[in-house]
Amino acid sequence: MTQSDLLIIGGGPAGYVGAIRASQLGLKVCLVEEKKLGGTCLNIGCIPTKSLLSSASYIYGLKTPKAGVTVSSYSVDTKAIYSFKDGVVNKLTSGVENLVKTHGVDLKIGKAKFISNNQISVGEEIIEFKKAIIATGSKSIMPKSLYVDGFTVDSTFILEHPEMSGKNVLIIGGGVIGCELAFILNSFGSTVTIVEKLKAILPTEDKDCVRYVENSLKNKGVKILTDISVEKIEKGTVLLSNSESINVDYCVIAVGRMPNTDGLEQIKAGVNTGERKEILVDKNFKTSNPNIFAVGDVTGSIQLAHYASACMCKIIANLTGSLAPNIDVVPRVTYSIPEIASVGITETQAKAEGIEHKVGRFSYAASGKAMAMEETEGLVKVIVDKEDKVIGAAVVGADADNLIVPFTIAIALGLKSSQLASVIYPHPTLSEMILEVCEDVHGKAIHKAGRRRN
Ligand code: FAD
Repeated sequence: MTQSDLLIIGGGPAGYVGAIRASQLGLKVCLVEEKKLGGTCLNIGCIPTKSLLSSASYIYGLKTPKAGVTVSSYSVDTKAIYSFKDGVVNKLTSGVENLVKTHGVDLKIGKAKFISNNQISVGEEIIEFKKAIIATGSKSIMPKSLYVDGFTVDSTFILEHPEMSGKNVLIIGGGVIGCELAFILNSFGSTVTIVEKLKAILPTEDKDCVRYVENSLKNKGVKILTDISVEKIEKGTVLLSNSESINVDYCVIAVGRMPNTDGLEQIKAGVNTGERKEILVDKNFKTSNPNIFAVGDVTGSIQLAHYASACMCKIIANLTGSLAPNIDVVPRVTYSIPEIASVGITETQAKAEGIEHKVGRFSYAASGKAMAMEETEGLVKVIVDKEDKVIGAAVVGADADNLIVPFTIAIALGLKSSQLASVIYPHPTLSEMILEVCEDVHGKAIHKAGRRRN
């Protein structure tokens, strides 16, 4: 029997990061991964989508003449694009394997199953642990009523099949994954329709920002049907709640992901789950077994790789008495074209919750760098409370994913917009919009027409 101080089940962004961090802090760690290190994020999530979206963005760029440059002919080889994506994924997953091993982590490849409150089996091997952390992630929700073999597929299928280009596809679900897939498929020549049962796509994001993405999808030829649900699916045909019937080659189900505890047999360790099969944890990620923690997507919390990693680092910090990261402020990015990045609360939330607030706004169209880049479609927004402390921000446009970072730091450190505006931003950069938007809160944005005094 193998003994382990700390056993981690699942090698995704929660599990592998935790194994390395725990090892750095002197724990003897065993990491068990059933498939490939990197989990959903590196293999079938964040990285493959971003690789394909980078190609999508490039293709859209070729179609749009810029500053006197036109491209008269180009070809798109989706097999080559997918093979580049596979190369990126393989490089990263083998890099993670190397990192895990060089940090002295005992890596086991196989499926972990609990057999008692302090033991698991991996194939024939039994591992006894002092503490364990479950980080087994999530899986696509595929409602039985929507499943038709060879017709309904999930995001993983799209990310693994270059031959989807040129097909007629219906995407059920206009959330983050649905929208990202819509851009990928549309750019590769597919005909795409999104059906969303709520009143808008990306319903949790800032409404002004979402409008840019909606317009972008529509201008590229993606049909968006909101406030409409799917009534029935038969191979080749989808019947909608507005009685419209749509004929498509494939139907992509992008209605969310659910916690994955398949075959884990956690109940043998006294670990309780909730209604959505999520592992129930307290605020320190402890399960109903005091020696077992759970973290990441399997707990049914925010499904983001960086959040999973940070929460895991907090557990390890608590176990070793070291400095824990702040996990209260979670930036999020939708990698649509243009991207939306946000942190903290939205303007709509601030209004709904009756929070006294002010909003600063600045348009990409007024940024010298954005003009020079021909990237004038976009908006930066900051929301501050009555003491001027930053409580939310949203950015839509080029480099939104990077522009959200200073706002995240501001919220985490309790900074005021006047403090964010009190440092020098290099010129010309898109980051100057952070200065402008924070000054706009006080009616003092230099590059904004008109005067506003609050
Ligand atoms: P996972 O990454 O799911 O890892 C769990 C691991 O556990 C897997 O490797 C699995 O094989 C293993 N495992 C499961 N059961 C067992 C067992 N019994 N024994 C051993 N091993 C087991 N997030 C972002 O932050 N940014 C993005 O841009 C982004 N894009 C996404 C795009 C798509 C299409 C998808 C599907 C997800 C995306 N996400 C994104 C979400 C992100 O991938 C997840 O939030 C993140 O991977 C969760 O990390 P985790 O470690 O909790 O679980």
